[in-house]
Amino acid sequence: MNKWEGIVLRSIPYGETNKIVTLFTREAGKLTAMARGAKKPASRLAAITQQFTHGSFLIRKGKGMGTLEQGEQLDSMRFIREDLEATAYASYIVELIDRLSDDNERVGGVYGLLHDALHAINEQYDPEAIALFVEWKMLPVAGIHPIVHQCANCGATEGEFAFSFKEIGFLCHRCFHVDRYLIRITPNQLKLIRTFSTVPIHRIGNLTLKKTTKDFMKKIVRTIYDEQVGIRLKSRSFLDQLESTPELLPKKKKPDEKVT
Ligand SMILES: [Zn+2]
Repeated sequence: MNKWEGIVLRSIPYGETNKIVTLFTREAGKLTAMARGAKKPASRLAAITQQFTHGSFLIRKGKGMGTLEQGEQLDSMRFIREDLEATAYASYIVELIDRLSDDNERVGGVYGLLHDALHAINEQYDPEAIALFVEWKMLPVAGIHPIVHQCANCGATEGEFAFSFKEIGFLCHRCFHVDRYLIRITPNQLKLIRTFSTVPIHRIGNLTLKKTTKDFMKKIVRTIYDEQVGIRLKSRSFLDQLESTPELLPKKKKPDEKVT
């Protein structure tokens, strides 16, 4: 028996009464377990096996898939479950992390990122900004290491900079000829890309971003995913629909927010 702390990435019905649960655990990365009887509402495993739940899980090792014997809920992530926008962005985050993680492979920092991101959304921080941040943070896990501290071509740290999808990083004005499709960026945008690439999520939580800033950051990171990683997430089309239907989303503002 092993006791893992983890978050439910997904839970699919299996047979009449069971669920197959995919967890991302602090100790062992992603793993899958059978939760017998969990589909029955009265089951003690029913609540603990819901998507996004943060809990501790007692798993009996089997030859193949383990069996979830018991669980203790640490946070039900109630707000995420009840708010349409929060659900949409949280679904996107868990799908991205699920797709980029292999079973039983521990990649440093991913559990903390998932945990902090879902808790931030559950505490009603801007879910769009949090999801965007996770996309940037997962690039290295996908094997992409954007060069954001110097010119990707000559190494210069001074000058005017642009972003290059070809180099996946900054190019200084002396090297603009290297990529004719580069995107010119302002010093503020440069700082923001650096922040997203380097600052841990618990320090970015209460950063409030303007819609245009988020759209800019999203365009860059999603182009990298589309061109370099080549994964297509099911939850993204729902998000895109949601984002183009703003009347579905009541405006929520927090006091004392900082706009960047
Ligand atoms: Zn250069």
